[in-house]
Amino acid sequence: MTNKEAFIEAKRFIAGGVNSPVRAFGSVGGEPIIIDHGKGAYIYDIEGKKYLDFIQSWGPLIFGHCDADIEKAVIEAVKKGLSFGAPTLVETTLAKILCEKFENLDKIRFVSSGTEATMSAIRVARGYSKKDGLIKFEGCYHGHSDALLIKAGSGATTYGNASSGGVPQDVVRNTYLAVYNDAASVEAIFESNPGKIGAVIIEPIAGNMGLVPADKEFLQSLRALCDKFGAVLILDEVMSGFRASEFGSLPYHGVLADLVTFGKVIGGGMNAAAFGGKREIMDCLSPDGAVYQAGTLSGNPIAMSAGIAALSKINASKDLYAKLENLARRLMQGFKAAANEAGVALQTNVRGSMFGYFFTPHAVKNYDDALKSDTKLFAKFHAAMLKRGVYLAPSQFETGFVCEPMSEADIDFAVNAAREAFKEIKRNG
Ligand code: PLP
Repeated sequence: MTNKEAFIEAKRFIAGGVNSPVRAFGSVGGEPIIIDHGKGAYIYDIEGKKYLDFIQSWGPLIFGHCDADIEKAVIEAVKKGLSFGAPTLVETTLAKILCEKFENLDKIRFVSSGTEATMSAIRVARGYSKKDGLIKFEGCYHGHSDALLIKAGSGATTYGNASSGGVPQDVVRNTYLAVYNDAASVEAIFESNPGKIGAVIIEPIAGNMGLVPADKEFLQSLRALCDKFGAVLILDEVMSGFRASEFGSLPYHGVLADLVTFGKVIGGGMNAAAFGGKREIMDCLSPDGAVYQAGTLSGNPIAMSAGIAALSKINASKDLYAKLENLARRLMQGFKAAANEAGVALQTNVRGSMFGYFFTPHAVKNYDDALKSDTKLFAKFHAAMLKRGVYLAPSQFETGFVCEPMSEADIDFAVNAAREAFKEIKRNG
């Protein structure tokens, strides 16, 4: 069966042929490849073609595909039973690893996806602050729960408008949109809605409008504004946690959040995510407190075991992030040089093992800047790279990831492919 045939078949039985929209390659055109298996830094499609994988399941696989230690931990856990819906030791072990690592994490709770982590963090933040208003930032993605699926209205400080069908206007009534890296836009919302804003959620390193890090001073202002107006600050580290560094985004800004969300890497490739933070906030959760939150598969032992294996490996490897950052920088410098040789302007960003590139001559500090990128050129580049065996995120507004099994030779292979890709694009117009 070819990739094309398999995707046609998938579309007969699965909505859009995929279980998460970006996988359909809609924004770059063409069809997705259908994955057969992965090994280390590489994936193989059902036609037997090999690709250097810069998606790594959208972040979780910091040790690449089929890491022997994670695989072993999962197999051992499977032998003991897939799920109990009751307390196990592995939950506490993983919780302890996280709480001991981060000074602002007194307690956490596990869930199965990043969407649940942010949704639940917001609920407990509102339950604690007793205020319904929530500030989120244009271009930040926190999963697909209703209250967070909004885009900018006519101004940053207006009420949110639902940007997905099926989201009632009433549900986003309490969501206020601010501009990333613009503290004045946040202050204006606080000032014009006295006593209403109970929580602020932000990706401290935005990875869902492409890679756009928040400025340190901006995050410090956010902390000060939350303190001044009595709002809970939630840093969404579902993507940046254990990706930007072993302490997530923290070393880049030093701002301690009231609540933090995790996902992706903490499950080692399995379905685990978490939210956690200050004791007095987390104690508002049921059964101790009045804020309800639950999950049949939350703290699943297989996922916990995979997470323990991944985080233990991270804790044991001293120069992991230096190695990964070196690879990501080498890749971005290579892409930039290849683009410039072809007369194409490219903006690049690196944070630890995360990288991003924008086809625009202008600096990208927020969502509006990101939207000015040349998405047609991006699509051509993406297709030309895929043809050459390099699997990049199929959207200008996603982040790329390097993984531990990657070598400098792998990166040079991708850079060489980029050079050829830009030449091909120039030739074909
Ligand atoms: N928060 C951030 C920052 C994310 O990047 C994502 C997903 O990419 C989510 C939340 C949602 O996580 P999930 O897809 O596991 O629901």
